[in-house]
Formats: sequence, structure tokens, C-alpha cells
Amino acid sequence: EQLINQIAAGEVVERPASVVKELVENSLDAGADRIDVDLETGGKRLIRIRDNGQGIPREQLALALSRHATSKIGSLDELERVGSLGFRGEALPSIASVSRLRLTSRVRADEHAWQVETDGDEVPPEPAPAAHPEGTTVEVRDLFFNTPGRRKFLKADRTELGHIQELIRRLALARFDVSIHVRHNDKPGLQVAAARDQDAAEERLARLLGRGFVEQSLRVDVEAAGLALRGWVALPTFSRTTADLQYLVVNGRVVRDRMASHAIRRAYQDVLYKDRYPAYVLYMDVDPGQVDVNVHPAKHEVRFRDGRLIYDFLFRHLRQALESVRP
Ligand code: ADP
Ligand code: MG
Repeated sequence: EQLINQIAAGEVVERPASVVKELVENSLDAGADRIDVDLETGGKRLIRIRDNGQGIPREQLALALSRHATSKIGSLDELERVGSLGFRGEALPSIASVSRLRLTSRVRADEHAWQVETDGDEVPPEPAPAAHPEGTTVEVRDLFFNTPGRRKFLKADRTELGHIQELIRRLALARFDVSIHVRHNDKPGLQVAAARDQDAAEERLARLLGRGFVEQSLRVDVEAAGLALRGWVALPTFSRTTADLQYLVVNGRVVRDRMASHAIRRAYQDVLYKDRYPAYVLYMDVDPGQVDVNVHPAKHEVRFRDGRLIYDFLFRHLRQALESVRP
């Protein structure tokens, strides 16, 4: 059983950033709007994620660490329509099998929190009383301490931290309603407040991608044919420092989609610069029935039911918007 968990961990847990991803997605699934991420040595020694979500009841704490104990999918039918970000009850047990994990949680109805701890072992831990506000904290220490083969593939702290920061940036871009506070080796890192209006959104964007991007970009805001497209496309004056500043968020998730990025690039190159790649953060809202987000477990990919419609929508409306700033 524990071996199975460790093998499953090979799929889910590649490096500290994948742990952060699973834990933060759980926090979002739990309805949190504040997430604190504490890291030590690029996440290798410690990853601690605290949220103010709904919490886990005492009797489900140990269960959350066992395989396929997801509370999120009740049937195969639901599996096909996964609205939540979870990966079918594998993440926590997988992470627990390759680290020292401590899970502390409190639901609103309880007077105090409960805590379970494991050292990569399979004995279901007995919950002990603990102090914690409503919500959940997951601490993951010494990732891969019991799988040296994997540990040796971990890169320098700076590299692992970079992967985590990019991941958090993507999450922060996708969910403006959630405040996120990162610390690394006890020093404050990215800190972004939830943004409820346009000014706050631009402030947040400036923190995430730099003020230059916000100041030198065109605001896009179109709705047509049941689709909505909002966001920012950098003007040609913007010279980027990041190599890859292209974010497309579909229904609240940052995704990579070749067809969509092609449509965006073509619109940009048609109107502005033929030989340049656009920098953008764009949000597209699509009827959930029109898009399949479950193509890949990591869910960076989507499949649109009607790709042509999406392509034309993106190309046409972006082109139109960019016309107004044609040099
Ligand atoms: P999944 O997300 O696919 O359900 P996980 O292994 O990631 O599987 O989590 C197992 C279960 O533990 C979840 O279904 C959820 O009930 C509970 N859980 C995990 N993290 C949290 C959290 N931060 N807040 C509330 N519940 C959580
Ligand atoms: Mg999950």
C-alpha cells in the first residue's frame, strides 16, 4: 500500500512545486480566500500551506491521507465534469508517502483543531487536539527523505523556488479573489491582496508581472457570442524582461492551448509586429460544457468542443481591439 502511494507519488509529486500546486488547489477547493505559503530551502526542507477554507472534520483527517479518499467526486459521471481542481484523492496520500507530513485543521463547528502526522509510514495516524483557526495547514517536511533516488534529482534551492514562484504567479493571475502571502527562509516573498475592483486588479498585476506591463498594455474587454474575453495585451513599447509572458486563463485556470495562443499571436502580428511575440494576460469565459479541462491530470491543457469558434472569436476580437493602437 505504501509502495503504491510512493509509485503514485511519482506521477503527482515531481518536485516541491508539484506539492505546492496540489496543496494550494486543495485550499482553493475548500473555498479559501487567503493562502499563506511558507518555504524553506526552495521547498525541500519545508512547505507549509495555511488556508482559511472550510477545514477537515476530525473523522476525515486520517482518511484524507489514504488513497482515493476524495470527498469531491461522488460518481463516474461527476468525474467527467470535475469542477474542482482535485486529482481524485491521490495527492495527499502520495505526498505523505514521500515526506514527513503534518495536517492540522479546524472546521467551524469545532472548538479546536485536530492534527495528524506521518513520517512516510502507512499506519493511519490518530488525531490529536491542536490549536488552529478555522481552516487547514499542511506542513510537508524533508520531501523525498525516504526515496533518495528521487531526492537527488532535486535542483538547487533557487531553481526549485523559481518553479514554485512561477506556479504561484499563475495561480495568483487566475484567482484575483484570493490573497496570497509567500515567505521563503523567513523572508517575505510575493504578497498579493485579493483585488475586488479594477484599480486593485492593476495593482496586483503590477506586483505579479511588473509595473511596466500594466502601464504599457492595452485593456481588452469584449463579450460576444456567449464568450467573454478580458485582460491585458502589451503594446509594442513594452520590452519584457521575462522570456515568456503569455498567460491565458480559461474559466479560472491558466491553460496552455496551442490553438488559442496561435489565434492570439496571429491577431497581434497581423496588426502590430509581424516578427514579435505578444505578451499578454487574457481571461476567457466559456460555457463549461464547451471545454474539457481534464485532458491531462496536470490540467494545463484544455480541449474546446468547438475549437474553430474559439479561434475565430479570439482572432477577430483581439484584432479589432489592437486596431485602436496600430502604430
Ligand atoms: P482530492 O483533492 O482529489 O480530493 P487530495 O488527496 O488532494 O484529493 O485531498 C484529499 C481530501 O482531503 C480532499 O478531498 C478534501 O476532502 C480533503 N482536503 C485536503 N486538503 C484540504 C484543505 N486544504 N481544506 C479542506 N479539505 C482538504
Ligand atoms: Mg487535491
